[in-house]
Amino acid sequence: MSKRFLVVAEARGGKLRQVSFEALRAAALCAEDGDTIEACLIGGAGIGAMADELAAYGAAAVYVVEHDDLAVYQPESYWAALAAVVAEASPAGILLGHTAIGRDLAPYAAAKLGAGQLSDVTAVDRSGGSVVFTRPLYAGKAVETKAFTGAGDGAPWIVTVRPNNIASAAPVAKQATVVSVAYPAPSLRSVVREVVRKAAGAVDLAEAKIVVSGGRGVRSAEGFQPLEELAGVLGGAVGASRGACDAGYCDYAMQIGQTGKVVTPEIYIACGISGAIQHLAGMSSSRVIIAINKDAEAPIFKVADYGIVGDLFEVVPLLTAEFKKL
Ligand code: FAD
Repeated sequence: MSKRFLVVAEARGGKLRQVSFEALRAAALCAEDGDTIEACLIGGAGIGAMADELAAYGAAAVYVVEHDDLAVYQPESYWAALAAVVAEASPAGILLGHTAIGRDLAPYAAAKLGAGQLSDVTAVDRSGGSVVFTRPLYAGKAVETKAFTGAGDGAPWIVTVRPNNIASAAPVAKQATVVSVAYPAPSLRSVVREVVRKAAGAVDLAEAKIVVSGGRGVRSAEGFQPLEELAGVLGGAVGASRGACDAGYCDYAMQIGQTGKVVTPEIYIACGISGAIQHLAGMSSSRVIIAINKDAEAPIFKVADYGIVGDLFEVVPLLTAEFKKL
């Protein structure tokens, strides 16, 4: 019997997040011939305008739930909207990005649906016939593969997809088949009164292709400036170790690691970071790791593909100057 897979797309600042396209690709990897990939957009007025882009990345239909209550994420309202879509689409599997919203909504929805749920999926394989998901364990020290059982119990499975791991398909110009779904407007037990955004760089840290990160070795808030310049030239984002955050050099929103953000960029440049296991948990899956540290014995060099033993205040400006020439 043919199945449907539903991607819960996510937008920020009027733009779809890259992980939504990656989740569409992950859904395609789950599908057999005859299965259908669909997406949903949940948000305030105008969210439906992004439906064509989801179609371009493989969504055969886009369910749109638009309502003022949905302009800002709140688990009860988003669950009510998603439940309405699930009732309409009857998906066999639901995929979300492993973002702040996805991490909150996926287990909420799983509990409500009585569904199995897997977080932080990095790969999908159905070469053996059934769908097998890969995800990291123990702060990245191990990986596990898992499959859902319980076929026939009616509940869909739910997964969140780690950003920057499953390459999205190439887009093709396509008009979406839009299905408008009425928001059931439940009475909410809490409402979001105001969202105060912290100043953030132009590039989203979680989805950045290049991350330049600073540790306690940057010595001050001003010490981050050369790193910001390098990230600016490379079109990347700036991250930090907890050491740098704890020292007050930068905001905790920049923290990478076990208790911070997990990033998997193509290039991670660690500057003045020793390489504690808790930091590695957030960046060791990066494709290429470059470490700059004045201590040749620093543990970061054990995971680095390229290491530069030297003072970051000399090395980073040199790199910036060279990249500027390209
Ligand atoms: P340090 O370990 O002090 O290293 C600074 C490095 O800078 C040194 O290697 C030094 O040689 C180098 N250096 C100094 N000056 C220069 C220079 N001029 N040029 C080049 N190199 C220089 N940490 C995280 O990062 N993320 C987490 O999410 C996280 N979660 C944690 C959770 C728990 C439960 C615990 C207990 C700890 C956690 N930590 C986390 C903290 C972690 O254990 C380390 O303390 C922290 O990562 C160290 O930060 P650092 O590498 O910047 O500082």
